[in-house]
Amino acid sequence: MSNSILFKQVSIANEDNSELLVSDVLIEGGVIKSVSSNLTPPDNSRTIEASGKVLLPGLFDVHVHLREPGQTSKETIATGTEAAINGGVTGVVAMPNTLPAIDSGGMVKSVLETARSDSRINFLTTGCITKGREGKEMAAISGMKEAGVAMITDDGSPVENPQLLRRAMEYAREFDLPLASHCETMQLSGPGAMNEGRRSYKLGIPGIPSISEEICISRDIQLAAYTGAHLHIQHVTTAVGMEIIRRAKNDGVKVTCEVAPHHLIFNENHIVDYDTYYKMNPPLRTEEDNARLLDGLVEGVFDVIATDHAPHTEFEKKQQDFEAAPFGITGLETALPSLNHYFINEDKMNWGQIVKRYASEPRRLLGFNPVSIKEGEEAEIILFDPTGETTFTKDFMESKSPNTPFLDKTLKGSVELVVVGEKVLLDRI
Ligand SMILES: [Zn+2]
Repeated sequence: MSNSILFKQVSIANEDNSELLVSDVLIEGGVIKSVSSNLTPPDNSRTIEASGKVLLPGLFDVHVHLREPGQTSKETIATGTEAAINGGVTGVVAMPNTLPAIDSGGMVKSVLETARSDSRINFLTTGCITKGREGKEMAAISGMKEAGVAMITDDGSPVENPQLLRRAMEYAREFDLPLASHCETMQLSGPGAMNEGRRSYKLGIPGIPSISEEICISRDIQLAAYTGAHLHIQHVTTAVGMEIIRRAKNDGVKVTCEVAPHHLIFNENHIVDYDTYYKMNPPLRTEEDNARLLDGLVEGVFDVIATDHAPHTEFEKKQQDFEAAPFGITGLETALPSLNHYFINEDKMNWGQIVKRYASEPRRLLGFNPVSIKEGEEAEIILFDPTGETTFTKDFMESKSPNTPFLDKTLKGSVELVVVGEKVLLDRI
């Protein structure tokens, strides 16, 4: 492997820059050595003609399910992080709904230990708010903090008991940990399997009403305001929920939130033929929600984009009917091409916004410095061809599970190169 790479005439995307800067970029010894026009390649360097291609910081996904331990037929830390690399993601935060759940310092240590040998990228884990994610007793938050947990969450379920959640928020505040909330009111969701509305009536599928999510968002925000904890609201899907968060932010509540690409791109009308690859929780909402959430992302209500990468085997998804199949779709490999295809390509978002929401803010949320394409910075970069194409065949994907609506479909854009420090993690040039 050559020690230096020279990108000729590459378009550099940095946070907050709506325009791309065209320049040469030289990477040497894992560091961005120089950003300037007309650089001459040093001896033994690799030169990449990159005109029309975009160089951006490695993406960071704060919401992924890697299924290890316990459900390694769906995914493992090794395959999940390789899927991340395949999508240009160089850092992930794993959710704790594994078997057993990650709810103690020992479990956190063991998962981080596995990642040290199996992951080629930055791997962080969350820990549970309650023991076993059962919502009954608080988990050992201090032990998990000591073991290096990134956030606490019972993702997959809400903490139904407000007194328990209040106490957990007080702990989270003391330990300086964000508490991430899966907002859902279980009594309202009932056996629901898709958004409640005309479409669910037509299909005869029990619905999950938008108020199930919105009531819980309001409750959790009030608890955060009361306790002073940092609340992070996961996978927001409704415009009303988003507006509640916007108001809370304006009122000075310490709340951040995320949106998943699939909730910007798809809605309930995409559920035809009872296709379980469109079944996720929270569910796809309405076409109007798609548009309003995208506005919210551009306006900065959403701090981060996160995929909620949720692998399930083909058998679990396809051999069961819509109501019985598990919730969730994968996202790590499709996220960037889909954002390019639907939003960059249509002038609805620019590269600076993608970098801010899917690379910089996720790192800030976790207390890290963002990475950028500037002289002297450590190289953590991806090269993306916005005019290329990617077809998401099972062969192409590194994830163990094929459950994405994009399976066998083609999107505009292709991740061509992923470099972290001195290591080239992916090379498709
Ligand atoms: Zn969730």
